[in-house]
Amino acid sequence: MQVNFGVRHGIGEAGRSRDDKAFRYAARGRAMPASALATDVGEMKPAPFDYLAATSASEAAEALAAANGDGKIIAGGQSLMPMINFRLVKPAILIDINRIAGLDRIEKHGERLRIGATVRHRMTATDALVHRHIPILHDAMHHVAHLTVRNRGTFCGSVCHADPAAEMPMMTLLLNGTIAALSIRGERQIAASDFFVGSLMTSLEPDEFVTSIEIDTLPLDTGWGFEEFSRRHGDFALACVATTLRIVDGVARDVRFGMMGVGETPLRLPEIEARIEGQAISQALLQDVTEALKGLLHPNTDIHASADYRRHLAGTLARRALRDAWRRATLRKDAADA
Ligand SMILES: Cc1cc2nc3c(=O)[nH]c(=O)nc-3n(C[C@H](O)[C@H](O)[C@H](O)COP(=O)(O)OP(=O)(O)OC[C@H]3O[C@@H](n4cnc5c(N)ncnc54)[C@H](O)[C@@H]3O)c2cc1C
Repeated sequence: MQVNFGVRHGIGEAGRSRDDKAFRYAARGRAMPASALATDVGEMKPAPFDYLAATSASEAAEALAAANGDGKIIAGGQSLMPMINFRLVKPAILIDINRIAGLDRIEKHGERLRIGATVRHRMTATDALVHRHIPILHDAMHHVAHLTVRNRGTFCGSVCHADPAAEMPMMTLLLNGTIAALSIRGERQIAASDFFVGSLMTSLEPDEFVTSIEIDTLPLDTGWGFEEFSRRHGDFALACVATTLRIVDGVARDVRFGMMGVGETPLRLPEIEARIEGQAISQALLQDVTEALKGLLHPNTDIHASADYRRHLAGTLARRALRDAWRRATLRKDAADA
């Protein structure tokens, strides 16, 4: 399991001697660079760490293995660097994957899109394949943070960070994502449903890193609804609903219903999907979904909102999102039939 916070790593402590650092460089067959000498006590906000700009996936995997649980991958750095600066995380070594060729692509493979580990939020938000084949993801990306963060932050980095109020983990779950994790032992595919184990916690092993994530594309007659509420644009959501459905013979089919901001992990709610499947969206059904959500959700109270308020939001957002999904599915079906 990977835990993206806490100070369980002792090796990054300030005060570590230069000899220790030189030894670890030597153990990797390299001389200690001048930049490492400059990271001694008191010169930087973060605790001292080593840095490797990996140029291949195998080099990154070997460095993670050699770090023995004290290494951290850095992608966009938008979540990791603040945590390092606050010393909530003290890795012994940062392994930068930005120079590894071939990880910065979005590609269609059959009915799935593969998003490489260094694809930025900005690219996902503007990519033509995403726009055409997963319009709900295109919509979702415009709720993510602000331009500067979107220019650096990565889709896969967000999924690995596993914030329960972040859009990309929820979309990965909604779209039956598969996470490709690499280590010196080889590659392993992890279903999104097995990936998120808690707030900022994933089922990645400490020596594994993500090279890409595959997600479903949607049939072109799919309708979608994405409703998020945050106090300021670009903030993490207090609650969010993402749903997709098709209309076949006048009723909803292939229903997907996901939420974020209302639990320790992003949620996919099969109980809600089953209530909608085979039904036409009506006032009575929307009321039924609202009542069911009250029993299913156990959100936290925190400084941003109470649990009751989040439950109330969940019902309101669900009704709006389902109406939107039904309206869009109707339009798309009509267009396809014309
Ligand atoms: C002001 C601000 C507002 C934000 N608002 C939002 C928002 O509204 N919605 C939202 O979704 N996000 C938001 N974010 C977070 C942003 O999307 C981050 O970019 C994202 O969470 C992490 O992606 P990253 O590439 O920067 O990862 P990094 O910061 O580099 O890494 C984050 C964590 O993931 C691990 N990691 C990264 N890549 C990999 C990999 N390939 N394999 C294994 N582990 C990896 C790192 O080791 C680290 O533990 C916000 C951030 C800021 C600073």
